[in-house]
Order: sequence, then structure tokens, then C-alpha cells
Amino acid sequence: MAALRGALIGCGFFAVNQMHAWADVADAEIVAICDRDPERLKLVGDQFGIERRYSDAAEMFADGGFDFVDIATTVQSHRALVEMAAAHRIPAICQKPFAKTLADAKAMVAACKAAGVPLMVHENFRWQTPIQAVRKALDAGAIGEPFWGRFSFRSGFDVFSGQPYLAEGERFIIEDLGIHTLDIARYILGDVTRLTARTRRVNPKIKGEDVATILLDHDNGATSIVDVSYATKLGTEPFPETLVELDGTDGTIRLSQGYRLEITNAGGTTVADVSPKLLSWAARPWHNIQESVFAIQQHWAERLKDGGETSTSGADNLKTFALVEAAYESAASGRPVDIKAML
Ligand code: NAD
Repeated sequence: MAALRGALIGCGFFAVNQMHAWADVADAEIVAICDRDPERLKLVGDQFGIERRYSDAAEMFADGGFDFVDIATTVQSHRALVEMAAAHRIPAICQKPFAKTLADAKAMVAACKAAGVPLMVHENFRWQTPIQAVRKALDAGAIGEPFWGRFSFRSGFDVFSGQPYLAEGERFIIEDLGIHTLDIARYILGDVTRLTARTRRVNPKIKGEDVATILLDHDNGATSIVDVSYATKLGTEPFPETLVELDGTDGTIRLSQGYRLEITNAGGTTVADVSPKLLSWAARPWHNIQESVFAIQQHWAERLKDGGETSTSGADNLKTFALVEAAYESAASGRPVDIKAML
């Protein structure tokens, strides 16, 4: 079968990872790129040898010649570009955060559904090797029924030098990073009925919140905590590791710093190294994220070919995105938020 031909919009900081990953994905290639910044267009076009280059996405869609589009721009343009893809009946991948508001995200899902095209959100954290290892252990029944969890990302890493826009938004850590951690919580413990959140800003040089503590009630009765911080200075910087604690009816799982997975149950305690692979184009400490970019893009290519639903489809991601909106709402009001009422 011929390779899937893709077009990528937004040749910025993170898109370079996506371009590297596309080069590794079996049976897929990028045939056209678009960026309204001529410097980024040239840089990425020259680095990856892409001839077809556009400054305007509408022109690229009008010319066509590709089977899917990978939207790697920042959130402001996501709705317009996804709707453009739907209008041209082109399957689309959209970077997180999916949209500016839940209402926009719902409209984007509806547009793709009406056009009959798949839509996947590039929500890659659940594809990280250590997170997949936790999921596999649960599926194998290693700790029985999980009744409590903690999903933690606490770091002092300077994310602002590579992504200066992160310092400028009214919203920061929940929308940018917590969105991934909340998605992992859903992936591991299932959908959420109710959420309570507290936030604060520690770094005086940024506008948004850089610390958030979120309490989740899951459908299955489990309770979890999602705690995220970019104001935490530790002896060994854990960026970009998500640490996981799970207590189950038959045992416990601890994913701790250094990609160490410890499982305890009636059979005793086992410890495994679940480090991500360092792909040829990857660099530490980003390699954990970079490997998951490859994994989600490979997954997309496979589902596009077999017609199956992707793990982080637009419809699935509404349930993660609702948690982001609910967290801001709860932090502002001090009250719990009913998630089902939002969906
Ligand atoms: P960036 O600002 O470096 O890059 C965005 C690029 O898109 C810029 O080059 C800009 O010129 C271009 N662009 C914006 N609107 C456009 C439009 N309408 N048409 C054509 N080009 C347009 O941003 P970034 O740091 O690369 O982030 C991009 C997205 O990736 C963000 O939504 C961010 O949250 C996400 N991201 C995801 C991960 C992850 O692990 N999934 C990690 C980092 C960033």
C-alpha cells in the first residue's frame, strides 16, 4: 500500500520533533509544510528536504495532494485550521491544547464528524513508555482494582526559554502541562465525575499559575490527585517525568524518578527499568516526550489505514479538555465542578 502523504502546519519549536518522528513512521511521509513565518518555513523545509512550502494554509488545502494534515500551531489557530481540514474532507491531527474553549473543541469534533473525517488530538503523554508500562501492569491485574492514585509532575525546568509564549498567557501550567497529567489520570483510572482544584503563581516573572493541585473523583469510585508545578527546585531535576502512585485492592504500583517501576503484591515486590528509548534524533531529557511523539504518530498512521478510532480522538479529548476548564473554574470559585454536566 502507498505511503500516507501528510501536510504539516506550524513549523515551530515542537514541530521539529513531529517532523523527525514522521521520518521514522512506517508508510507515512510529509509532502508539504506551511508556516506564516518565512524563517521557520525555510529552516524546517531545508532541514527535512520538503519542496512544497506554503505561508497560507488555505492555499495548501486548495492545492491538495495529501491524505492528512498535522496541525502543530499554537492554540489560537486550532479551530480555524481543523474546520478548514473538515471542509476539505482531510483527516486531521491537532496539537494540544485542543482549543481555546470547550465550546470550540466541541464545534471542531462536530465539524469533523459531519465531514466524516477522523480527528486526533496530539495528546502524546499517555504514549510514553513508562505510562504504557503502568497501564500494562494494571491490565494484567497486578494490583487488583485501583482505588487511589497520584499523578505528579513537579519541576523547576526552564520551559520559558524554548517556549516564551508560556510566560505571557493568563493561564499556564494546567492548560499547558496539567492537560497531559489529567489525560494520564483518565487513561489510568478512567473518566472523571467531579473535580476540585487549587492553583497559585510562585514565579513573579510569568502571568499564569505555575502550581496546581487537583482532586479527581473517577467513575469507578477511585480518587486521585493530579499535582503539577514548575516552581519546584529539587536536587535531581525530574523534567519531564510524570510520577505515578497507585494503590489497589491487591497491591501497589510506584513509578518513581529515573523511570523506576515498582510493583508490590502477594507475590512480592518487582522493580523494572521502564526508561524510554533514546531515538536517533532525540536528546535528553526530552527523549521521553520525543519517543511518545513517534508512538502517537505511528498509531495515527495505523488507524488511518485500518479505519479504527484513535486513542486520543477529538471526542475522547473533550473529556480531558473539560477537566482543564473545570480546574480553572474550581480554582476560581473554590468549589467542586460536575464534569458530566459540561460534556
Ligand atoms: P511555536 O510558537 O514555536 O510554533 C508555532 C508555529 O506555528 C510558529 O512557527 C507560527 O509561525 C506557526 N503558525 C501559527 N499560526 C499559524 C497559521 N495560522 N498558519 C501557519 N502557521 C502558523 O509553538 P510550539 O512551542 O512549537 O507549540 C506548538 C503547539 O505544540 C502548542 O499548542 C503547544 O502547546 C504544543 N506542544 C506540545 C507538546 C507535546 O508534548 N505534545 C510539547 C510542546 C508544545
